[in-house]
Amino acid sequence: MKTIFAKSVPGRRASCLSGDAPAAAAMLPDELLRKNPPRLPECSELDVVRHFTQLSRRNFSVDANFYPLGSCTMKYNPKFTEYVAGLPGFARLHPLLAQTGRGAARVQGALQCLYEAEILFCELTGMKAFTFQPMAGANGEFAGVKLMAAYHKAKGRKRGKMLIPDAAHGTNPASAVLAGFETINLESRDGMVDPEALSRVIAEHGDDVAGLMMTCPNTLGLMEIHLPRIVDELRKIDALLYYDGANMNAIMGKMRVGDVGFDVVHLNVHKTLATPHGGGGPGAGPVGVGERLLPFLPAPRVLRRQDGSFCLDYNIPQSVGYIAPFYGSFGVVLKALAYILRLGGPGLTRVSEYAALNANYLKKKLEGVLDIPFQERLCAHEFVASAPKGLRALDLAKALLERGIHAPTVYFPLIVHECLMAEPTETESKDTLDTYVEALRDIVRQGLADPSSLAQAPVGLPVRRLDETAAARNMALTEDMG
Ligand SMILES: *Cc1c(COP(=O)(O)O)cnc(C)c1O
Repeated sequence: MKTIFAKSVPGRRASCLSGDAPAAAAMLPDELLRKNPPRLPECSELDVVRHFTQLSRRNFSVDANFYPLGSCTMKYNPKFTEYVAGLPGFARLHPLLAQTGRGAARVQGALQCLYEAEILFCELTGMKAFTFQPMAGANGEFAGVKLMAAYHKAKGRKRGKMLIPDAAHGTNPASAVLAGFETINLESRDGMVDPEALSRVIAEHGDDVAGLMMTCPNTLGLMEIHLPRIVDELRKIDALLYYDGANMNAIMGKMRVGDVGFDVVHLNVHKTLATPHGGGGPGAGPVGVGERLLPFLPAPRVLRRQDGSFCLDYNIPQSVGYIAPFYGSFGVVLKALAYILRLGGPGLTRVSEYAALNANYLKKKLEGVLDIPFQERLCAHEFVASAPKGLRALDLAKALLERGIHAPTVYFPLIVHECLMAEPTETESKDTLDTYVEALRDIVRQGLADPSSLAQAPVGLPVRRLDETAAARNMALTEDMG
């Protein structure tokens, strides 16, 4: 497809300022004016509209295709939440308004939304308070481990080690290291954190262990069965338990992480509560804490005054400070609030039930097509599988694209061989799931009959199999416009 520059015709215009254009230049100081016109494409309005519409059709998008990506729950994009976040009263606010005298009156509604969202998030998780500052899950992890560090520091001790199970998402150790911790890898057994391994590590490093970062259900899609024992072990040495909430949509209305002993949690609202993940858009990673970490939350916090008005409180002496600018991704939190209010408690519970039902349905239907570990266990909202012997996960994923289905997550978690991790979510119909199963069955049959037949896939799409090394090493980021 030609680029828009290649479609440029000198002198062609989409619109024309009615003769006033030079006046604009006259209002700027000479030294700020460019010497030559910018080399922008010159196109008509139709050229531009057609160009970008055609480009958009070459994309895979959730509005057009099934997205079984695992570990990325929210692919469906409820349109009403976009409407809410786009209301001018919200969308046109400037974050600095909240800090000015008269401006504060104009942001009361926005502050009330944050205040009420915090109450609902606490209700959902059993935590005592939330900060909405972190801009994504990984940013929430960073905030969370900073809080853990602040807790130990306030007790007058230095604890340098963070325990991370081997099934963890890569951002967990990265966040811990960024916050100054050394990580210790916890090996899993039968897909679970191994309590014996945990006891051994604690016996060895006890008074240097700051905490443990867990994902539950974990990235294998399995619910952790040793949780009470893990909580006990950590409490004994006053270490803290972190809940990576990326998989929260499996447990809503079923388990509150605060009730079972977690001290700090981040939620990926862009995975669980209405903003789609995997589209590269903004997310949010609110962090909730229990009693012990309350004093260290990032500043500012939204307060409700005696007279019912809302303000921002910067006076938090032990706070870890700013984690992100202003109050985080306000619009994303707003969408989460709208979604929670729309579905209500029973609705959110049903989300988790259907997410698990759909994942278990897919897992069962794919027995005999893919190699499925932990087959005897029910999965939560997602499950892992290996490509059958002799086939590669990458080839299956590329062949799916050819059939109009986005690939599942591949090669994650690292502990599963030739891993394909699928998460259908609660919003997909049985028909769509059946189509996915049939497509995979067909691809596997073709691959087993002639393994080389998948090596070129996808052949019918705008972008074919790339040389990924060359794509990373020899990037061509500009176009030679001649
Ligand atoms: C997605 C994910 C993260 C990181 O969250 P981002 O919002 O992408 O930064 C962390 N842990 C797990 C288990 C995840 O799936």
